Amino acid sequence: MPTYIVLLGPPGVGKGTQAKNIAEATGLPHISSGDLFRENIKNATGLGKLAQSYMNKGELVPDDVTIGMIRDRLSRPDCKGGALLDGFPRTTVQAEALEKLLAEFGGKVNHVPYISASEATLIERLGGRWTCKAQGHVFHEKYNPPTKPGVCDLDGSELYQRDDDKSETVTRRIQVYFAQTAPLIAYYRERGVLSEINGAQPIEQVTADLLVVLGK
Ligand SMILES: [Zn+2]
Repeated sequence: MPTYIVLLGPPGVGKGTQAKNIAEATGLPHISSGDLFRENIKNATGLGKLAQSYMNKGELVPDDVTIGMIRDRLSRPDCKGGALLDGFPRTTVQAEALEKLLAEFGGKVNHVPYISASEATLIERLGGRWTCKAQGHVFHEKYNPPTKPGVCDLDGSELYQRDDDKSETVTRRIQVYFAQTAPLIAYYRERGVLSEINGAQPIEQVTADLLVVLGK
C-alpha cells in the first residue's frame, strides 16, 4: 500500500527545507502544490490553462482543478510507493477531497507531521529581513546581521524592509495561517494521524524528529 504524508507548518518554520530532507530520507517524491501549479501553467496543460483563466480574473482556482493536477502527478510511476504532499490540503473541504482521491490509488493519508512554532518565534524569523536596494542582498537582524546597521556588507548600498517583511505584514500572514489551519489540524488529529514537531529547534533536530514520527 502506498504511503502518503501531508506536511503542515506555518510560514517561517522551514517547511520547504524539511520537505526536501524527508523526501530524500524516505525516497518519496515531494509534491508541492505551488510547483505543480507552475509546472502545469508552464507546460500549458489543460488544467494549467484552466487554472490560469481563473488567476487572470483574480479568482481562486477551484479545488477540483488542483485535485486534477494532484491526480495526474500521483499517477506517475515515481509515486507508486506514495508521496509527500506540501501546500495541499489547506482546508477541511480539501482534506475530504484528498481522501477520496487517495482512495483511487488504494491509499490514505498515513502521517501528518505538523511543524509548529510560536507566533513570536515566527515573527522574529520572518520579520527581521532587510534587503539591499542595489542588488537585493538579504540580511537578517538576528540570524545574519550586516556589520553596520542599514548598510549592505557586499556593496555598501542602503538596506530597506520590503512590504512583505514588515512586522505588521508578517504578523497578519502568520495569524491568517493559524486561523485557516486550525480546523485542518483538528481534522487530522481526530483521525489519529497528526504528530506535532517542535519547529523552534535547530534544522537537523527537526529533521531527526520528523523521521522518528515517520518511523524511519
Ligand atoms: Zn548589496
